[in-house]
This record gives sequence, structure tokens and C-alpha cells, in this order.
Amino acid sequence: MTPTRILVLNSGSSSLKYQLLDMRDHSRLALGLVEKIGEQTSALTHTPLLGEDAGKKRVHETRFADHDEALQAVALELAADGLGLDSPELAAIGHRVVHGGLRFSAPTVVTDEVLAEIERLVPVAPLHNPANITGIKTAQALRPDLPQVAVFDTAFHTTMPEYAARYAIDVETADAHRIRRYGFHGTSHAFVSRRTAALLGKDPSEVNVIVLHLGNGASASAVAGGRCVDTSMGLTPLEGLVMGTRSGDLDPAVIFHLERVAGMSSEEIDTLLNKKSGLVGLCGENDMREIRRRIDEGDKQAELAFEIYIHRLKKYIGAYSAVLGKVDAVAFTAGVGENAAPVREAAVTGLEELGLAVDATLNSVRSDEPRIISPEYARVAVAVVPTDEELEIAHQAYDLVRESD
Ligand code: ADP
Repeated sequence: MTPTRILVLNSGSSSLKYQLLDMRDHSRLALGLVEKIGEQTSALTHTPLLGEDAGKKRVHETRFADHDEALQAVALELAADGLGLDSPELAAIGHRVVHGGLRFSAPTVVTDEVLAEIERLVPVAPLHNPANITGIKTAQALRPDLPQVAVFDTAFHTTMPEYAARYAIDVETADAHRIRRYGFHGTSHAFVSRRTAALLGKDPSEVNVIVLHLGNGASASAVAGGRCVDTSMGLTPLEGLVMGTRSGDLDPAVIFHLERVAGMSSEEIDTLLNKKSGLVGLCGENDMREIRRRIDEGDKQAELAFEIYIHRLKKYIGAYSAVLGKVDAVAFTAGVGENAAPVREAAVTGLEELGLAVDATLNSVRSDEPRIISPEYARVAVAVVPTDEELEIAHQAYDLVRESD
């Protein structure tokens, strides 16, 4: 039997998300999440998606000291559904790896050398790569015979031209410390830009797309003929759009000011800008539903936070329209982009000269399907295109192991 299942693992510092997919028909067999790994009480939520128990969540609250214990428990849950990780049907384990630097522009089968390179990138991704490495090592220990495939968040952006990827700082210093713009969410930008082309009935090589990935983290990308030419996140995911808890763009001198005047340490500033800024910093809330509810009740702080969020978004749409020259589509995706019609409407309001508009009725439709929400007369298609990073990772991992068969 040819193995056709892929387990996708997304390991965070204290969490482990997983999905098991069958690549014959792209169906999902099970999915789940382990949270608070290493804390007093961790929680494993497992949902089988096949058979009698399909859709019935199983929640276990117990302590998992580390990712190893967490993955062991996930393996038991899968085995209880007849989907054990010892199954010969499993073709590979696909890992989301946040930072692949310049070296990894494509999915890669993990070897000791690849793992060492991912480890070498820890200084530029201190929050993410260590957890991803732990996830890979844990999975290797469980199924040493199976290919482990690393799929990098940065890979899609490695096509950015040098003038978009470099910061205008001293070249020697930049090169010595690998300081440049790498970009993130690449798996989503790749998936959504391709889907958008399909929605227009075109090949990706024929269209220019601006992708707006608006989740808790948020980033924009300019994709010309299927290749990324610019993206809003940089050396780290802090740059660019206003996010749930991250500031996005700001004058770097704000950091010196906080050091000198507010007496803050670099760790404190890091926490401030990554965890206590963005929408949370502006109005104490990062859930767009709650922000809209507060605006409807006349809350001025929530309204200003929304305006700042939209203003930044518009600046990037304008900038990427200029970078691309000609835009065929603007695609909204991720939690906010897929669900928040007021964000989509506000982001394109006033951009008619750039060819952008949304149709109020189309914009208000709720659906899991990719769809166009601009009126027929609009020069640029505005689309809502649900992202599916797990499916994309599974695809890339599956294609790679089949090629090397
Ligand atoms: P991430 O993967 O970055 O954690 P998601 O892409 O899941 O985030 O997006 C989460 C965000 O999506 C939430 O913080 C919330 O602001 C927003 N969101 C989710 N559902 C809705 C909705 N129905 N309306 C408006 N915003 C929503």
C-alpha cells in the first residue's frame, strides 16, 4: 500500500497543534491542540473527523512536562481512533518551521545538517525556532524511520529582490548579523495567492496579487506572477501591519527613547512591542469582534484602535499597488480577513482611484469558500480566500516525499 497520510505538526513554545490528512482526497482525519505544555495543568483537545465519533471533541486536562509527553499523548488519541502513528499509511510528518533564513527556499527533508542549520537561525527567531526544533526531534524519536519534512514560513519570500529585502543600514553590520527582511506567513501567502489566481480563472504566473493575511499576527505581501516581491514582516514578525498584540512599523528611535528615558531593558521593550502593543496596546482588546461591538456602543478608544489598524492597512495596499504597478486582485485571509466584513470594507474605502471597491451585499456573505466581493465594474478583484496552512504544509511534504521515492 502506498502511504498517503501526512501528520502536520505546528509546535509553539508551550503548544502543539496537529492535523492528520489523507492526501488521496485531502480529507482531514483528525486534528487537535495541546496547550500549556510545561505548566501545572496542560490541556489536550482532540477531535476525530471520521467515523461515529466525527466532530466529538475529547479534552484531557493533565500535566505534560514537555513536547515529548504531549506528542506521546497525541499518538495515543490517534491510536484510539484507529489512526496510530505506527500505521504504514503514514507517509511523512510535515513541520511548520518559522525561520528558514536564506538557505531554505523550499520544503526540505530534515537531516542532522538541516537541523543544525535551523538551530543556527535561533538568534534571528528566538521565540519560534527552538520550539520547532523540539517538535521535529520529538517526532523523530517517535518514528525514526519516517521522513520529517520542514516547511518554512520564510520560504515563499526568498524570491524578494535584494532592494526589497535589504534594510538601508551599514552592509557589513547587516551581513555579519544576517539582518535583512525575511518575511513570515509564507505558507499562507503562497496558498492564498495561488487560490486567488484560480478564482480568477488564471494561472498564478499571469496575475499580480496583494495578499492581506489578517489573523492575530498580520502581514501583507505583493505577489507578481506567483513570486513574492515584497512583504510587510521583516527580520522578525514585528514589522509591518498593526497586529493583535504587535505594534508593526514604528520609528526605531522609539526603542532608544524607551531605553534612555523610560529606563526599560531590551527584554521589556521586546515584550512591550510584541505582546502589549497593536490592538491590545491601543484598546486593551485584540479580538476584532469585541472591538466592533465596543465601537457600536460608542467606545472611542476602540474606534481609534480600529482607525489606526485600517490606516496602516491602506498604506500597505497603496504601497504594494505601486510596487506591483498593475494589480489584478487583493485577497483577504485569516481570522480577521475571512470574517470581519467591516475591516474589508474600511480597508478599500477611498481607494477607488486604485481600482478598488467592495459590494456591500457580497461582502456580507459568510462562507468558507473563496469568493469575489468587488462589484463587476471594479478594475481590481477584491476577494476573500480562506487560508489553509496545514493543507499547504501537507501538500508540500507529500509532494517532496513522493518525488524522492
Ligand atoms: P492566528 O492564527 O494568528 O492566531 P487567526 O487567523 O485564527 O489568528 O485569527 C484570529 C483573530 O481573528 C481573532 O483574534 C479575531 O480578532 C479574528 N476573528 C475571528 N473570528 C472573527 C469574526 N467572526 N469576526 C471578526 N474577527 C474575527
